[in-house]
Amino acid sequence: MAKSKKTALQKTDGVSISEITNKDSIKKLNKKRHANINTDALVTSILNKDIAALSRAITLVESKNPKHLNKANTIIEACLPHANKSVRIGITGVPGVGKSTFIETFGKHLTSLGKRVAVLAIDPSSSVTKGSILGDKTRMEALVRDKNAYIRPSASGDSLGGVARKTRETITLCEAAGFDVIIIETVGVGQSETTVHSMVDFFLLLKLAGAGDELQGIKRGIIEMADAIAINKADGTNLKAAKLAKTEFARALHLYPKKASNWQPKVTVCSAIENRGIDNIWNIISDYVETTTKNNYFIAKRNEQNKYWLIQTIEQQLKAVFFNNPKIKAELQKQLKLIENNKTTPFVAADYLLKLNT
Ligand code: GDP
Repeated sequence: MAKSKKTALQKTDGVSISEITNKDSIKKLNKKRHANINTDALVTSILNKDIAALSRAITLVESKNPKHLNKANTIIEACLPHANKSVRIGITGVPGVGKSTFIETFGKHLTSLGKRVAVLAIDPSSSVTKGSILGDKTRMEALVRDKNAYIRPSASGDSLGGVARKTRETITLCEAAGFDVIIIETVGVGQSETTVHSMVDFFLLLKLAGAGDELQGIKRGIIEMADAIAINKADGTNLKAAKLAKTEFARALHLYPKKASNWQPKVTVCSAIENRGIDNIWNIISDYVETTTKNNYFIAKRNEQNKYWLIQTIEQQLKAVFFNNPKIKAELQKQLKLIENNKTTPFVAADYLLKLNT
């Protein structure tokens, strides 16, 4: 992180080397740099598919500095009319299932078709523990070098909700920068799949073949969310088991009620490492987009998602305002003590605190 800041600073016109010799001056210069950001120019560059500008805008979106928030909002508003034109794909699966290998092969396939691909990640571990399940290893090296691909490591934040909001805004920026396909990756931890599902058009679940226990140990809700399940690592001695798993999943999926999209979820096998079955997955997704565009579900789902995010954002802001209010902070401690000593009930205390806030 420090390294990249320094590089950016050195590239900034009018900054002498002596000015970047200590941390304080770096901070000051960074402030100056952000204060000087011309949002109009940045938007124009984003619309001209300038990746450096896109990265800068995303950094503003991810910033915790309230001054950056205003700029970020201005940029997003200006980008909004140019967004909405991509296919948004969510990809999930347990660590080791082959997500990065898959996204690399899949991404390369898409760029070979002339598409521009952005890869984002929601990594709940990074927001809770500051460690990362998705981000730390060297990933997708070939895709990183592809000029038609853009890979952005997951944003960190205090809560999944916060990270999710930043990712939603990043999608808008990537779409304005002309990316045709946006891939959002996540691991099956906590609520992260539900979060990703609420911001994508198509949800792909990667699975491994097991020894006849494919349907065990899997959260029912995830199967319900999936528009396709791909059994990865269908190669070598694993091929037979993968095909068997495909049959089992297909049978199980038929037991679920039909989706509002009228789309029957597909089950397929693939080998990310050998690049087999990857083209078929893109065909499935294209078929989905065509079908749901025709029956108007595609746009209806996006509208639903927008409504959901409006309500989510309001809830988050209200909570933040409430819990950051110094009066509430102090009273909350007192009320907790009273509850501990059986002097009040949680409901009476909540009522009291909520009224204090108005
Ligand atoms: P992630 O944790 O889900 O991102 O999984 P990775 O992409 O890092 O893959 C985990 C391991 O599985 C790595 O050693 C990959 O080389 C391997 N792997 C991924 N895809 C395949 C595949 O299609 N076939 C085989 N045999 N191995 C794979």
